[in-house]
Amino acid sequence: MSKKLLNELKSRLKTRRDHLLREFEHRLKEFKDSGGHRLTDTADIASNIIEEQVVMSLAQVEAKEIEQIDNALEKLESGKYGKYGICERCGKKINKQRLMAIPFVYLCIKCKEAEEIYGRLDDEYDDIYTEQKNNNPHDN
Ligand SMILES: [Zn+2]
Repeated sequence: MSKKLLNELKSRLKTRRDHLLREFEHRLKEFKDSGGHRLTDTADIASNIIEEQVVMSLAQVEAKEIEQIDNALEKLESGKYGKYGICERCGKKINKQRLMAIPFVYLCIKCKEAEEIYGRLDDEYDDIYTEQKNNNPHDN
């Protein structure tokens, strides 16, 4: 990967990070402010709780993305350019178009797809395993 492209991706990451941080701070403020209102009506309280949950889950998504951006920036700034743009799972180079679209991406498209499919399967297997374990008479 050329240094020019890396610098381009780096500045994109920073711009995105600044934007997310502002959004995140804005949401936290919104969340705190909403707690200040005196709510007497049950419907108001209920809708307020739902609103707070939405605000918090959005904030969590933003926090997660900031974390991923930080990881990508760390790879870039540690000077280990070889690490950036390399799939963390299979070690292959991540497609350039994919990096341009999502500069903080850390899995290649194949591993990402596999994670989405097998990630869910793993959860199901975990549930089955836990059930079997709980029903195991030898445990008693
Ligand atoms: Zn991969």
